[in-house]
Amino acid sequence: MEAIMEKLKILADSAKYDVSCSSSGVGRDNNATIGSAHASGICHSWGADGRCISLLKVLFTNKCAYNCEYCVNKRTNDFPRASFEPEELAKLTIEFYRRNYIEGLFLSSAVEVSPDYTAERILESLRLLRYEYGFAGYIHAKIIPGVSPEILHQIGLVADRLSVNIELPTSESLEVLAPQKRPKAIFSPMRQITNSLIERNALKGPGTMFKGQELNTAGNYLGNGATDRNVTAGGSPLLGASSAGAGSSLRGNSLALGRGVSRRKESFAPAGQTTQMIIGVGGETDQSILTTGENLYRTFKMKRVYYSAYIPVVDSPVLPDKETAPPLAREHRIYQADWLLRFYGFSVGELFKGGEANLDPDLDPKVIWALRNLEQFPVEVNKASYQSLMRIPGIGAISAKRIVRQRRFAAVQYDDLKKMGVVLKRAKYFLTCSGKYYGDRVFEPEVIKNSMLQMENGLQLSLFDNGWNRLEEGARQEKLAFAGVI
Ligand code: SF4
Repeated sequence: MEAIMEKLKILADSAKYDVSCSSSGVGRDNNATIGSAHASGICHSWGADGRCISLLKVLFTNKCAYNCEYCVNKRTNDFPRASFEPEELAKLTIEFYRRNYIEGLFLSSAVEVSPDYTAERILESLRLLRYEYGFAGYIHAKIIPGVSPEILHQIGLVADRLSVNIELPTSESLEVLAPQKRPKAIFSPMRQITNSLIERNALKGPGTMFKGQELNTAGNYLGNGATDRNVTAGGSPLLGASSAGAGSSLRGNSLALGRGVSRRKESFAPAGQTTQMIIGVGGETDQSILTTGENLYRTFKMKRVYYSAYIPVVDSPVLPDKETAPPLAREHRIYQADWLLRFYGFSVGELFKGGEANLDPDLDPKVIWALRNLEQFPVEVNKASYQSLMRIPGIGAISAKRIVRQRRFAAVQYDDLKKMGVVLKRAKYFLTCSGKYYGDRVFEPEVIKNSMLQMENGLQLSLFDNGWNRLEEGARQEKLAFAGVI
């Protein structure tokens, strides 16, 4: 057990740079076996650095055959290495679950020997966990670029969520920083997962997401590598005629179900797929990063694209210096813009039209877009469409719905807006209520921007003022003491 715990220490440490571990999206009540999953996202936590982490977030192996420049696990890095045996990881997970330490598993991996060799061992471990130990909790499994379709399909049948990391926003960066990862090897499994999800949802019947949707392979980065439509949806079962390499531990083999454990109803990746992109490692602009993100949502129906501020962990002439601070503020603005793409109907083209190729570091992208398009404002809240309301800074989906609902019965009053969840300190510059404008500044972009900047920084400024006053008072007291006055 000591050896396993040592492996856990090494492999959990190696997994900490992967941020795509949110577990929301699947619900499964379970009475017959062990564990259950809840759509509200039960198996994530927050790390000391503020990032979402799974309670058992671990690599299967960190013995990597690849040498991606930015990665702590790259082949040429000299540090402790370990690999789980499939049985070890399955047992560890179920034991942690029984002790209530975790509610799910986030399993990623380096590439040991080859993508198929590693993926087969991951699959064996997950099947043991599901079928031998009867674990019905949440599993998020990383898919290694280059894995064969058969193995991917089998992993999709035991995991809830799959992800293939795109890693870098452009093919140029990939070429320089991860030359062993080809765009096609990344996009083929993404496409296979998307096709399998479409197929699964089509079987569920009309009205299901993705049904009948045509995949779009257009897009700058994705256009290069994602045009291969020859990937089969699903693929033949691993246990039949398989493309698995010689020595496959799974070929012709079937894991027996544990005593009294019924086989879980198999559904391909019910929580869909996600991906992760590192930011601040190449020279890409925010526009380029978000364009790739937008293409990923459109082409592969991603549940989430995670953006991970690059943490310098290795020395390399093609990477930012190790002393460089991770661009966390930039990551935050990119997430805000991503939110606008996913839930507010914005496009990347709109967000950057008439502006810089990087997001404004001082104000959120929705405010900046509104200031650049001031001719569309102020919007009258008692007449505007739901979509127009959603474009007002300070109004979100819930408050927009409340406004639309209330005005069916009576005109919305300005004082009602706050109770409806509108953030008036932002929204007041961009709306009218029954014809009256409540913004306290001239309706000019620069004037409103300065006012909003003052408001955003107000708290810090007042703290600074107080602190400064205290410092001044301290210095005064010191001088008085020195002069023998007090
Ligand atoms: S394949 Fe993955 S683990 Fe290996 S060096 Fe590249 S990013 Fe790191």
